[in-house]
Amino acid sequence: MNKALVVLSGGQDSTTCLYWAINEFGRENTSSLSFDYDQRHKIELESAKKVSEIAAVAHEILPINTFSALGGNALTDNIDVADDLTVAEEINNTSQLPNTFVPGRNLIFLTFAAAYAYQRGIKHLISGVAQTDYSGYPDCRENTLSFLEQTLRLGMKYNFTIHTPLMNLNKSDTVMMAEKLGAMDAMAYTHTCYNGEQPPCGHCQACLFRAKGFAKANRVDPLIEPFQFFKN
Ligand code: ZN
Repeated sequence: MNKALVVLSGGQDSTTCLYWAINEFGRENTSSLSFDYDQRHKIELESAKKVSEIAAVAHEILPINTFSALGGNALTDNIDVADDLTVAEEINNTSQLPNTFVPGRNLIFLTFAAAYAYQRGIKHLISGVAQTDYSGYPDCRENTLSFLEQTLRLGMKYNFTIHTPLMNLNKSDTVMMAEKLGAMDAMAYTHTCYNGEQPPCGHCQACLFRAKGFAKANRVDPLIEPFQFFKN
């Protein structure tokens, strides 16, 4: 039996991947896993739980609260997140990484996910990383993930496959994919904002990237829609 585990952050991309996995492997064979890594905004975990409920898949949260002890990034520490999309795009064109980069995070998530999957007879791991249209995190790139897949196979003597359905899609393609897979109901409960605000702040890099994607796809973001309604 082909069982699949989706690393679910509670955001737009991993939620889209959850629906991709359901479509690919069947709902009964799909489950999701989130990490409580002492992120500043616990709302992410609530989103992940809610999204899993809507998608009707089993969900678990693993505590790995060591990133804040390592320090130095805006997602676990009390450091300001840059507000500007041009800053993010400039960074993308240089070798610099934004302060939202948590070193090793994605590698550690997937390694824990693999250990968890191994114990449960799951061979397919799904991650919502993308190497286009985002902040240029090196642990979200195709070559990093393909080497990690090899390492996990060798290191656990187990035939894992890491799936990254969004790897080469831009944000608007991802929106269209979510719509096609029926993920839009769940999308209303996802969380993207780096500032942890609900309704989303609308000016952090994550909010701006998300808004750009929905605008390009010519779709209304179901997360924003109810707040727009109240505004008018
Ligand atoms: Zn925001």
